[in-house]
Amino acid sequence: MTTEQNVLFTIFGGTGDLAKRKLYPSLYRLYKKGFLKEHFAVIGTARREWTNDYYREIIKETISDLVISEETATEFASHFYYQSHNVNDAEHYVNLKKLAEELDDSYQINGNRLFYLAMSPNFFGTITQQLNQQGLVSTNGFNRLIIEKPFGHDYESASILNEQLREVFDENQIFRIDHYLGKEMVQNISTVRFANNMIESMWNNRYIDNIQITLSESLGVEERGGYYDKSGALRDMVQNHILQIVSLLAMEPPAKLTDIDIRNEKIKALRAVRLFNPEEVKENFVRAQYDVGTNNDSLLNKYQNELNVAEDSQTETFVAGKVLIDTFRWKGVPFYIRTGKRMAEKGTQINVVFKNVPLNLFSEDVEEELPPNVLTIFIQPTEGFSLQLNTKKAGIGLETETFDLKHIHSAETVANSPEAYEKLLFDCLNGDATNFTHWDEVASSWKFVDVIRNEWDQNKTDLTSYPSGSMGPTESDDLLAKDGFSWYWNPEIPK
Ligand code: NAD
Repeated sequence: MTTEQNVLFTIFGGTGDLAKRKLYPSLYRLYKKGFLKEHFAVIGTARREWTNDYYREIIKETISDLVISEETATEFASHFYYQSHNVNDAEHYVNLKKLAEELDDSYQINGNRLFYLAMSPNFFGTITQQLNQQGLVSTNGFNRLIIEKPFGHDYESASILNEQLREVFDENQIFRIDHYLGKEMVQNISTVRFANNMIESMWNNRYIDNIQITLSESLGVEERGGYYDKSGALRDMVQNHILQIVSLLAMEPPAKLTDIDIRNEKIKALRAVRLFNPEEVKENFVRAQYDVGTNNDSLLNKYQNELNVAEDSQTETFVAGKVLIDTFRWKGVPFYIRTGKRMAEKGTQINVVFKNVPLNLFSEDVEEELPPNVLTIFIQPTEGFSLQLNTKKAGIGLETETFDLKHIHSAETVANSPEAYEKLLFDCLNGDATNFTHWDEVASSWKFVDVIRNEWDQNKTDLTSYPSGSMGPTESDDLLAKDGFSWYWNPEIPK
């Protein structure tokens, strides 16, 4: 059943890239589906001096390829109000409060407020404190805060930020975005595990050899060099997206599929991730930077020559590592993770490699192994599953062949399924925090990442390189080879 939500959004950073590319189109989709109707309004704020009319024109532009008629676009955009605002200026919050109260009244919103901080995290503390001090937090409806990544740059900075937020908002009012948690196939991990006895009953160290998670990007840093050079792949991808995927794969079945139960299990899984000592960091983690190379015949630059990147930059654009989870379920099962820019292919996939049959009855050569069963979860751009199985080749004799059982979402399904931000906004409107990261998850993730980062910062010589357009440095292959494994990559390209 479609229920309309009464809500006032205040979007800080309302003129920014995220707001224009993701938030406004997602709000429009929710509007089209009837989740937002008459009783909602949006205040966009940023430093620029814009009028309501100009702001509404921008809103209409951002949804131009979604709208069915000019009339609907105009009607939708009429709910948007612009307030020029410098977040550091306390007086500006007075105007914001006045506008919020007027809109609450005229749209009969009943005090439900959602504050979206779509701007640099440096401002998060100031904004939340001002929201409280200047009385923008309502007393009669819900108050929810959505914040974007990065949540701090290490455990200490994240803790300080968290304390600032918690002075004003309770944990259950804070919705920390990790947009990977809005992705269809990331959300599907729990369904595949817990709705299939065949899979969940084998989901342990008795049957699984290793689990591999690859988030590979074919693009370089593009125009984000300034930000990226200070962050690097470990902070940008591992601390959040990759460890979130690890926690969904590793968690115990929750008692119920509620946000509290699921997040409790994820927290427990992340707490069980082994923290390495400096020697173990060297053994278990590899970092590298992209060098010159080619992809599809085009010549590619090295990272140090990218715009806004230091010529002698030691920032890693690739990370591979082994994550160990000290639980009864996962003892002895490595979770290999890798992520990088300028890799051969763009794609995110999880490969669950099952243990081999104990004996190859199908070969004269006792040493010859059959390929293992591998469950691939394609996260993006392909969405779906495949299961690698061995079977008998048709014909005389007992020759085996290996094939994939596949279920790939059609291009139409992918195109019509809600975008991550739409789903996350919908969840937040409903007060469902399942697909947002709890502070305890953030804290455990940073503790794991900090140990690696500290070791790398002290020991700069470990950085290696890989050719642009490759799947990373040879050291990444060696990491698995020394355990007797190799990277598995299922190159499914949708037709
Ligand atoms: P952006 O630079 O495009 O926008 C920043 C916004 O903040 C602008 O509206 C700007 O006017 C406003 N702003 C800056 N200083 C201000 C001040 N003192 N007072 C009032 N307004 C001020 O940034 P973005 O790409 O939209 O990213 C916003 C946040 O979202 C960042 O935390 C970023 O890390 C995160 N994020 C962005 C994306 C994306 O696709 N753009 C993806 C993931 C996360």
